[in-house]
Amino acid sequence: MWLHSLKIGQARVTSLTDGRFRLDGGAMFGVVPRALWQKVAPPDEHNRIQLRINPLLIQLGGRNVLIETGFWDRGGDKFEALYAVERDETVFDGLHALGLTPGDIDLVINTHLHFDHAGRNVTVDGTPTFPRAAYVVQAQDLYDATHSHERNRASYLSEYIEPVERAGLFEIVEGEAELLPGLSVIPLPGHNLGQQGVVLRSEGETLVYTADLLPTFAHLPYPYIMGYDLYPVTTLGVRKQFFPRWAAENAIIAVPHDAHRPFARLKESPKGGYTAEPVDRS
Ligand SMILES: [Zn+2]
Repeated sequence: MWLHSLKIGQARVTSLTDGRFRLDGGAMFGVVPRALWQKVAPPDEHNRIQLRINPLLIQLGGRNVLIETGFWDRGGDKFEALYAVERDETVFDGLHALGLTPGDIDLVINTHLHFDHAGRNVTVDGTPTFPRAAYVVQAQDLYDATHSHERNRASYLSEYIEPVERAGLFEIVEGEAELLPGLSVIPLPGHNLGQQGVVLRSEGETLVYTADLLPTFAHLPYPYIMGYDLYPVTTLGVRKQFFPRWAAENAIIAVPHDAHRPFARLKESPKGGYTAEPVDRS
C-alpha cells in the first residue's frame, strides 16, 4: 500500500494516494527537451510519463486535515483512457487503513481546483464527500474556476465545485492564512494565479506541501516547469524564493504527483540547484 507516515513535531503526516495516471511528458516539462527529461522520467509509447495523485493527511491536535481530495472519477471511459487512470488505491482506502472515514475529516485544503487535485470534493451522488469539513480555497482560485477561459477550461469541472459552494462549505482565504496553530497555507502562484501550498511547523520541524509548484521530484531543476503553467516565469520566481528557504530549514517536502517518493528533503547540489534526499520514515 502507498501509505507513508512520519512525525513532524506533534503532528502525524501520512502520504495517501488516489491512484496513478499519465500525462504527456513534453507538457509536463515545458521547454525542456525530451533528450533531457526522459532521463529522469522515461516515457511510454504514447510519450506519457507515470504520475501519482498524492493527497496528504495531517493529524494535529485531534484534527484531521486532508490536503487534496483526489482525481475526478466521473469523466467516463474516454477521459480515463486519455489519462491512463489506474485506481490501484483510492484516498478512501488510505483513510480506511488509518481507521478513518470521510466524516472524520475536519478540514480539506484545496491547493487549487483542478480535477486531478480536487476531483473527489464531491461524491458520485453529487454531495460533498467530507460533510463535516471546511474546504479551504483561495478566493482567486475559486474565482478562476468559476470564470474559466479557453486556456484553463479543461482543468476545472463544475461538478465537484458547485455542490461544495451550494453547501456553504468553502472557507475562502486570501493570501497567507494560519488554519491551526503551526499549520498555514501560503500563495504559490505560477501554475495558475490562486494556487496555495501548505506549511506545517511543529517543535522545530517543518513540512511543506508544494502543490504543482513542484509536481514531482524530477521537476527540481529550476527550469523544469510544466507547459501547463499559465505563468511559468512567475513559477520560476516563486521557486527561487522558496527552494533555498525550504532547503535551509531542512524541511520535509511532499509533492502532489511523484510516482515513487512520498517525501524528500532538498539538498543543495554542487552543480547548482537542488536534489531530493531520501527521508527516514518514523
Ligand atoms: Zn496537478
